[in-house]
Amino acid sequence: MDMAEGTKAVGRHHARVVSATAAAAGRPRGPAPDVADFGAADVRLAGDDKEVVMPVVTDAGSDTPIARAARAALAARAGGAPWPRPKACRTITIANQKGGVGKTTTAVNLAASLALHGARVLVIDLDPQGNASTALDVDHHSGVVSVYNVLVDDRPLAGVIKSAAGIPNLYCAPATIDLAGAEIELVPLVARESRLARALSGFDSSGLDYIFIDCPPSLGLLTVNALVAAPEVLIPIQCEYYALEGLEQLLRTVDLVRSHLNPGLTVSTILLTMFDGRTRLASQVADEVKGHFGEIVLGSIIPRSVRVSEAPSYGQSVMTYDPGSSGAQAYLEAAKEMAHRSASRA
Ligand code: ATP
Ligand code: MG
Repeated sequence: MDMAEGTKAVGRHHARVVSATAAAAGRPRGPAPDVADFGAADVRLAGDDKEVVMPVVTDAGSDTPIARAARAALAARAGGAPWPRPKACRTITIANQKGGVGKTTTAVNLAASLALHGARVLVIDLDPQGNASTALDVDHHSGVVSVYNVLVDDRPLAGVIKSAAGIPNLYCAPATIDLAGAEIELVPLVARESRLARALSGFDSSGLDYIFIDCPPSLGLLTVNALVAAPEVLIPIQCEYYALEGLEQLLRTVDLVRSHLNPGLTVSTILLTMFDGRTRLASQVADEVKGHFGEIVLGSIIPRSVRVSEAPSYGQSVMTYDPGSSGAQAYLEAAKEMAHRSASRA
C-alpha cells in the first residue's frame, strides 16, 4: 500500500467507526464521478443531494453557542446565497516554502467555500505529497494520470481533471508521487519554468471562476512553475514567530519571477492561519503582518481547530465535515472576502 492509499485507508477506517455519528451530523459522503464534466455539474448536485442527511436541530431560536453553530452548519450545508463571481477566471497560486503553514488546507477550504456559494473552482495539486487530492477524495495513487503527465508529457490539463467528492462545481487536477521526480525531470526540458503556464494557456478556463494551485514546501521548479502560471499569489502565514523568517526569501523569489518570467505577478492576498488566541505571540505576529502588508491581509484569521485537521482523513474539506466549526466559519469568511474583492476588481 502506498502512502496515499494508507492515508485514505486510515480515513475510511475512521469513517466506518464514526459512520453513525457522521450520518447523524449530516456529513455527506460519496464517490467522486470519474471524469469532470463542467457542463454536467448541476446534474451531479441532484445526485449528491440524495445522500445528505440533514441534522435535526431543536430549539434553533435560542442563542447558545451550540444553537449558533447548528444554524451556521445548516446555512453552510445549504450553500447559501451565491457570492459575486469574477468576470474572468482568477488563477491563484498558494505558496510558502515553509512546510505545514496551511497551504493545502487553505486551497481546499477556500475552494470548497467558493464552490458552495455558486463558483466553479479547480484545485491544481502541484505537491507530490498529494494532500489536496486526498482532502478532495480524488484518486492519486502512482500511475494515475495527473499533473505530472501535464508537466512532463505535455498531456492536456483538461484530461487529468476529476470532480471532487461531495461538492458540486469543485474539481481537482490530482498530484501523484511521480511528481517528486518532476523537479529533476523538468531540468533538461525546454522552458522548464513555464510548463504549467503553457498547459494553462491551452486550457479553456471559461467554465471556471477560480483556479487554486497548491504548492509544495520548497522554492524549487514546481513552485516556480506555479508562480509563472498565475497572476496572483496567496501566502498563508502561520501565526508563530518562525513563520516570518522565510517570508523574505519567498518575496524575493516572487520578485525574481516577476522581473524575468511573469511581469503581472502580484502577492494579492495574505491569510493568517492556525491562530491560537491563548498566546500573546499569535496576536503579535498577526498585528505585525497586518502592519507590514496592509489591506492584502484578509480580515478573517483562521483559528487552530481540531476539526480542520480531522477533515482530510475523511476525504473532505472542513466545510462539509463540520460546517459549524470555528475553522469552517473562518474559511467561509475568508472566501467571502475574496469573492467580494473579485467583484470590486472587475
Ligand atoms: P506542506 O508544506 O507539507 O504542504 P501545508 O502548508 O500545505 O503543508 P497543511 O497540510 O495545510 O499545510 O497543514 C499542516 C497540518 O496542520 C495538517 O495536518 C493540517 O491538517 C493542520 N492544520 C492546518 N490548518 C489547521 C488549523 N486551522 N487548525 C488545526 N490544524 C490545522
Ligand atoms: Mg500542502
